[in-house]
Amino acid sequence: MKNYHVDVLVCGGGPAGVAAAVHAGRRGARTMIIEQLGSFGGLMTNDFVTGIAGHMCGFVQEYVDRLYEKGWACKYIHDCVEPEKGKFMLEQMVLEAGVQIMYYTTLVDVRVEDGHLISAICHNKGGLFEVEADLFIDATGDGDLGAYAGGICDSGSNQYGGYNAPTSIAFRMAGVNLIKYKEASDAWSKTDAAKGKGSYSYDLFSQAIANKDMPDFVFPGCLAYKVPGTPDECADVTIDLCHAYRCRNLDPEDVTRQTIEQHREMIMLEEVFKKYFPGYENCRIVAIGSLPGMRETRRVIGDYILTDKDVLVGSKFEDGITIVTDVLCQHHPTSCRKGFIAHAHFDKPVEGVVNWPAGRCNDWDMHPFMEGRGYEVRNNQETYCEIPYRCLVPKGLDNILTAGRCVSTTWHAQIASRLIAPSFSLGHAAGVAAGLCLEKGVLPHDLDGKLVRKELVEAEEYAMPLDPGIQRRKPKELVLHGEQLRAHY
Ligand SMILES: Cc1cc2nc3c(=O)[nH]c(=O)nc-3n(C[C@H](O)[C@H](O)[C@H](O)COP(=O)(O)OP(=O)(O)OC[C@H]3O[C@@H](n4cnc5c(N)ncnc54)[C@H](O)[C@@H]3O)c2cc1C
Repeated sequence: MKNYHVDVLVCGGGPAGVAAAVHAGRRGARTMIIEQLGSFGGLMTNDFVTGIAGHMCGFVQEYVDRLYEKGWACKYIHDCVEPEKGKFMLEQMVLEAGVQIMYYTTLVDVRVEDGHLISAICHNKGGLFEVEADLFIDATGDGDLGAYAGGICDSGSNQYGGYNAPTSIAFRMAGVNLIKYKEASDAWSKTDAAKGKGSYSYDLFSQAIANKDMPDFVFPGCLAYKVPGTPDECADVTIDLCHAYRCRNLDPEDVTRQTIEQHREMIMLEEVFKKYFPGYENCRIVAIGSLPGMRETRRVIGDYILTDKDVLVGSKFEDGITIVTDVLCQHHPTSCRKGFIAHAHFDKPVEGVVNWPAGRCNDWDMHPFMEGRGYEVRNNQETYCEIPYRCLVPKGLDNILTAGRCVSTTWHAQIASRLIAPSFSLGHAAGVAAGLCLEKGVLPHDLDGKLVRKELVEAEEYAMPLDPGIQRRKPKELVLHGEQLRAHY
């Protein structure tokens, strides 16, 4: 089997991997990207998570602009991507950057000598082969490369029995009349039935549960993204509503359990949608995601760990390379009756954010394996947090960068890195950093992150505005409880 030698090997072709490969390629590095599936986009396209949340800038802005030009994106809650065309556009951008693509190729192991990664061992239909590289970028989402190379990894939350965030395999439904649904939802919001209830979909699912058409909530809300290019009166939508709880994402038997559970949920939900949701009477599932819908797997611990507090207070860093504008709202790992864990607990009040003595947490189920004690702290939504370059540089490994949802954060703070826009931006930064390392002949630990920031901010087109002067909602408008969902990711 043929072996390869490149300057930069990117493992994983999701949002982070594609952005990293394109930017390494654009800087002249001989770059290869391997992807276990036969198309790019990761969870965004291959798990039908088609609504891009987070701050748009840099590569993700360029990508979305190109999709809009072709009519392959539309505004529906977020910027929504046509999943199949979205894959194609990413492929074009990778090819234009001169990057070599290896589809249907899985990273299975590595060869390391004295902490230095020599090669990635990959598998495809040709068998096992090695790719040697000067620099490697782990964009597998799951932190496979970092883990195989012996990096320090964390997974799940200690506060929640080590469980990972719930997984959701999303699906695509055709034949939905979005106009009819919106009219019904608007009319419902003016009725008494709406008072004190968060959403129309919550109310409709409650009716289905009361009538025993559903055993319980799957997730207490519903977010449907419109597929661009389909008409409102007979639209395709993507829905990431199925949830498996108490997930152990590094246990293949458990991942299979989650998948089978969610396949059953999909079939049940199709019937519930048809019966209870106005406009969905003729809906039908036409595709289901081909990735296991993992919101978080491993986090590869780096020179800095982004913390809950950073996200809450809106920390800024000299080597900040992207920004996070979204609230701290992790999905509940164990309960289908709770939406988000939208706060953290500290012994003392934290300056500059919303602090309440813990007794105010009115729902103790939010802390199934620990007491909600001290102070309950929620985001300062008038500001934003930055992610420093050091989160991309794994401790103890010298020629690897990470990008996307596996970068170095705490469990709660991972919401900051995992949305699609920040994942793209972290990949963009990793690609630029890899290029700079090669140009300067230094390893990632020795590269000054301020230089990466400078390059990103000064790029002529599609620069990353790292000080966007974002005006956020006032804290009093915070959505507090699971049942009052407005959106979920
Ligand atoms: C159900 C769900 C709903 C979500 N909702 C939203 C939302 O509404 N809006 C939003 O902005 N974000 C949302 N997110 C988050 C977002 O989709 C992901 O976190 C984001 O796609 C992360 O990008 P990534 O490139 O880091 O990883 P991924 O998208 O996971 O991509 C990783 C890629 O690497 C490949 N890969 C993995 N392992 C290997 C290997 N060993 N060898 C080769 N290839 C490999 C995979 O096939 C995949 O293509 C959601 C996530 C989930 C699961």
